[in-house]
Amino acid sequence: MNKFDIQGIGMTSRRTRDRLIARLVEQGIDDPRVLEVMRELPRHLFIDEALSHRAYEDTALPIGFNQTISQPYIVAKMTEILLNGGRPERVLEIGTGSGYQSAVLACLVGKVFSVERILPLQKKARSRLRELSLRNVYFKHADGGFGWPEKGPFDAITCAAAPEQIPSELYPQLAIGGRMIIPVGGDKQELRLVIRSSDTEYEHHVLEGVKFVPMLSGSVV
Ligand code: SAH
Repeated sequence: MNKFDIQGIGMTSRRTRDRLIARLVEQGIDDPRVLEVMRELPRHLFIDEALSHRAYEDTALPIGFNQTISQPYIVAKMTEILLNGGRPERVLEIGTGSGYQSAVLACLVGKVFSVERILPLQKKARSRLRELSLRNVYFKHADGGFGWPEKGPFDAITCAAAPEQIPSELYPQLAIGGRMIIPVGGDKQELRLVIRSSDTEYEHHVLEGVKFVPMLSGSVV
């Protein structure tokens, strides 16, 4: 019995979820913890009903306000990379969106601190996580480009929107040994991994080309 199967979704959905997991494996995702959580978590609850039949396709889908729920592959990839540094206790997430990535993280890390600039998206995400009894996610309505300094330092920072450059405010919020995974760029974006190797040193790794919504400044109600 799936612990998240609160709406009693049937076997068809179980099969489509298994297909999604097989596709993630084909694309190189191999952390069993990530695969297991993504198999169990009901992604269809994070999408409007009109689109929920597409919830287990490996694709980004609109969630309103010109935003999208991230592609499962990219959620899996980013989570796997963060976990590679050891299980993070405190994670900062920039761009809550639907709350799907927050929920994946909530199952795998200690605490998730998630910042979203669009209030209605944040409210929906909060109620979805409550419905799933995931209680280790803390929400803030703000411009996440400034991070959440009062809650730092973080063992991991993950960002679901692409800034032109990594905001300088984020660096000091990363704990020593911590990892930040963030898309950077405009029309052409790359996924970067930044590891804080000492008090003053940050290693930068370029991972792959990606396509995220842009990081926007300010917050909207
Ligand atoms: N992982 C989320 C991705 C949502 S899309 C999901 O799968 O649902 C990216 C989100 O980042 C959007 O909700 C957008 O509003 C938010 N965002 C963009 N710029 C931001 C900023 N400066 N601060 C906080 N959130 C931001």
